[in-house]
Amino acid sequence: MSDIDDDEFLLDEDFPLGDGVADMDTLVICPYCGEEVEIGVDPGGGSDQSYIEDCPVCCSPWMVRLHYSGGTVEVTLAQTEA
Ligand SMILES: [Zn+2]
Repeated sequence: MSDIDDDEFLLDEDFPLGDGVADMDTLVICPYCGEEVEIGVDPGGGSDQSYIEDCPVCCSPWMVRLHYSGGTVEVTLAQTEA
């Protein structure tokens, strides 16, 4: 009886990291206005990413840093230098 093993194997085959199982969006708190915002993230961009993105609420520029760990994304926002 190896049903469980087969299921896990199939999940890995069908949803490799970066193509379905990894987080595609996440909640963040804007460091400027304090609003909770859901942002889209791209696991295809690599396990560590950083870029500038504007807050959809107050339009202030965030310094976004992403780290993927086993399909779960950790996001750190910082204020960009004025
Ligand atoms: Zn904001």
